[in-house]
Amino acid sequence: MTKLFQNYKRAAIEFVKAKDNYLFDQEGKAYLDFSSGIGVTNLGFHPTVQAALLKQAQDIWHTPNLYENYLQEEVASKLIGDRDYLAFFANSGAEANEAAIKLARKATGKQGIISFVQSFHGRTYGAMSATGQDKIKTGFGDGVPHFSYAIYNDLDSVKDLVTSDTAAVMLELVQGESGVRPADPAFITALSAFCQENGILFIVDEVQTGMGRTGKLYAFEHYGIEPDIVTLAKGLGNGVPVGAMLGKAKFGGAFSYGSHGSTFGGNKLVMAAASSVLDVMLAEDFLPQVLEKGQYLQTALQKALAENAKVTDIRGLGCMIGIETTENLTDLVIQAREQGLIVLTAGSNVIRLLPPLTLTKEKIDEGVAILTDIFD
Ligand SMILES: *Cc1c(COP(=O)(O)O)cnc(C)c1O
Repeated sequence: MTKLFQNYKRAAIEFVKAKDNYLFDQEGKAYLDFSSGIGVTNLGFHPTVQAALLKQAQDIWHTPNLYENYLQEEVASKLIGDRDYLAFFANSGAEANEAAIKLARKATGKQGIISFVQSFHGRTYGAMSATGQDKIKTGFGDGVPHFSYAIYNDLDSVKDLVTSDTAAVMLELVQGESGVRPADPAFITALSAFCQENGILFIVDEVQTGMGRTGKLYAFEHYGIEPDIVTLAKGLGNGVPVGAMLGKAKFGGAFSYGSHGSTFGGNKLVMAAASSVLDVMLAEDFLPQVLEKGQYLQTALQKALAENAKVTDIRGLGCMIGIETTENLTDLVIQAREQGLIVLTAGSNVIRLLPPLTLTKEKIDEGVAILTDIFD
């Protein structure tokens, strides 16, 4: 009998081993992974990350944030590059978003945060309050006050919510959990300019879209903007729990000694993993190839499924792809799994694909063939 809270609906299958882009169950059956553990193992089970973890475990895996941590400096430098950000390390996406909300409020001295209907920002009280989906919040009582929800891709709906107390606008550039919906570029350009003109901070939640997922290190690079605050998690440690918040250096004063913190945040083990992830991703050809592979996958899906009556839309950005369908999602996921392919769902009618960015075109073809088969 299980001793676990039944807050997850688990499939009756356990993966006990993994290699590259394959997962293996207890019987040794191999599954091609088109999920990356919900956008986490973006490099697959990569030998470089494994080696970094093993090496760090031999030296020292934790020190508190009372001491220097050159690995945090290293990861921050790789994340920031030439941009004018400072980094804070947390343990998850929700925690990165908590830091973002706290920084925005403290830096502006205002409280209001405008997020969006159908958004997802995490399960802690602040992140849950930012989330624009009732099903995430039902039964948990009052959330954090001063959050309001605009309509995605509708600038007027944002303007309608702005008050003299508005600290920040917060959004995903591709709404992930609710259905893989990319933001309209014209909307993002106009929203970013509007925020700048009105002294409202622009927070981009890149917990799912970041770390190469869309074919750029950050999805905001597709939109030609530079947010005031960016949050990261899922792919950052390729499976070890780590989150990050990047904020413009001019807000540094708001996060001074003692203002915010985390016991585990950015410890040596997770930073060693994140640093190795960034080494792989920032190698010259890596991200352009991810972009190309994402386009290849989307085109292959269009060719195979666009005429299928059960498929109502195929959309996405880079290697973050949604197949909208009229069919039962659970059945599709099970059918794919029986054929050795792991896929995700999003919202009520979308099959979500977050394949490892290291997938070869042959493996992409293999996955598309299985998807074509199950939709037929
Ligand atoms: C997954 C996700 C989160 C929450 O991350 P956790 O690590 O589960 O707390 C927040 N924002 C977005 C966009 C996500 O996809």
